[in-house]
Amino acid sequence: MVRLEGVSRVYQRGASTIRAVQGISLEVARGEFLAIMGPSGSGKSTLLNLIGGLDRPTDGDILIEGRSTRGLTEAEWTTLRRERIGVVFQFFNLLPGLTARENVALPLLLRGDADPGARVEDCLAAVGLAHRGEHRPSELSGGEQQRVALARALAHRPALLLADEPTGNLDSTVGREIVQLIKALARQGGQTVVLATHSRDAAAAADRVLIMRDGAVQKEGLPS
Ligand code: ADP
Ligand code: MG
Repeated sequence: MVRLEGVSRVYQRGASTIRAVQGISLEVARGEFLAIMGPSGSGKSTLLNLIGGLDRPTDGDILIEGRSTRGLTEAEWTTLRRERIGVVFQFFNLLPGLTARENVALPLLLRGDADPGARVEDCLAAVGLAHRGEHRPSELSGGEQQRVALARALAHRPALLLADEPTGNLDSTVGREIVQLIKALARQGGQTVVLATHSRDAAAAADRVLIMRDGAVQKEGLPS
């Protein structure tokens, strides 16, 4: 589903050079749930952003479903995300002026779906919020907001779900529920999941765990 070939991302900040990701090669199989762990600053978010085309490698190539993304334009990446990739973040990034239902509908409308209503209701129901569609984010708890964000990320039936610290802003019980929900929905929908987390709890749900340190893969194994 995803293949990284010697991917690096170097940031230049004045005189200092920050090697956020250093020569990572990696394969994620279709349907796999991969957790990326590591301390703060180890490059987890940078790696996820690169895989989702929210940032560009300074070196190497990222293949999505066998297709090289080298040289894709901004617009081509946007199309690729709209068709194949969903993303959830630590901060839910819901649009505050829109209801839960409208937040979930938005990516479908942007893709040009003329009548996303039924799909939106299915997605809200799948995250247990069938009765909260008319609520704005400010009227929902953190866990509920993350559920809406998850419904939004999965609404277009992506092949790949990227989750950057999706439990980082939640208490441990709700965090565990969100990870279990990600796992269950991805299994149902056939999504491949790449989840960045510093939480051992969250990583325990994965099929495989990659530990990063200073931008490189330090070790790889089964969740503990
Ligand atoms: P993590 O998600 O594991 O906490 P990040 O990927 O956010 O780590 O960051 C890895 C390193 O890259 C850090 O040293 C961070 O400060 C640096 N970094 C991330 N994004 C940028 C950027 N846009 N400009 C400069 N440095 C950055
Ligand atoms: Mg991060």
